[in-house]
Amino acid sequence: MEMLDRGHRLRFGAPEPAMVREGTVAGPGILVSGHDLADLSELLRQCEGTPVNVYTHGEMLPAHAYPRLAQHPNLAGPCGSAWQDQKAEFPAFSGPILMTSNCVLLPREAYRDRLFTAGPTAVPGGRRVQGSDFSEVIRMALSCPPLPDRFVRETEVGYHHEAILAHAGAIVSAVKAEQISRFFLIGGCDGPEAARAYYTEYAAQAPADSFILTLGCGKFRIRNHDHGTHLGLPRLLDMGQCNDA
Ligand code: SF4
Repeated sequence: MEMLDRGHRLRFGAPEPAMVREGTVAGPGILVSGHDLADLSELLRQCEGTPVNVYTHGEMLPAHAYPRLAQHPNLAGPCGSAWQDQKAEFPAFSGPILMTSNCVLLPREAYRDRLFTAGPTAVPGGRRVQGSDFSEVIRMALSCPPLPDRFVRETEVGYHHEAILAHAGAIVSAVKAEQISRFFLIGGCDGPEAARAYYTEYAAQAPADSFILTLGCGKFRIRNHDHGTHLGLPRLLDMGQCNDA
């Protein structure tokens, strides 16, 4: 994990907090999910010069914090939430969907033809990307009905451990001055069942002078609640993918 983290930072730059626009913009698009930032980077490179917008889903969300990915003109923004909602969200996305790693579910008929898998990921009867050749995905994006201009919200990403350490001095001083009562880390994966709301409720009840750090898909439920700010920082700080732990 340390090697992967180092590789991500060397190749894509040190993650930094950033506001990103959730939703879609008018035009053709590809939705990318999974964990593989290298696949996302290669897809973006192959989209250069085309009008195809690339959207992130699930654990691709932290990609928007890496400068060399975030600055790419074809990277549009996050669209949708986490893997457990893919059967509801993928049918509503009119373009192709690329799964780059784990947590793909058996696709529903409504989007089976538009689902591609890459790397170690596959579904029975699904389309596989060969190597890193995304030309078929891009061709499909150009032939599918365009996406609408749809704004959902602005969201903040990028509290990778390096970005949080940049505030270490101020945080330690605040702890000594008893201005911060606790830090909670809510990491890992969340399940699809509505009843599995333990961490959502836990986060909502955390004291106003505490911070909540998240990793992995668990954040997608927790971040629907407005946790506000404390000492000028958002109380909910997403540190990135589960592998950033
Ligand atoms: S955080 Fe867990 S549930 Fe989410 S995509 Fe990664 S492995 Fe899957």
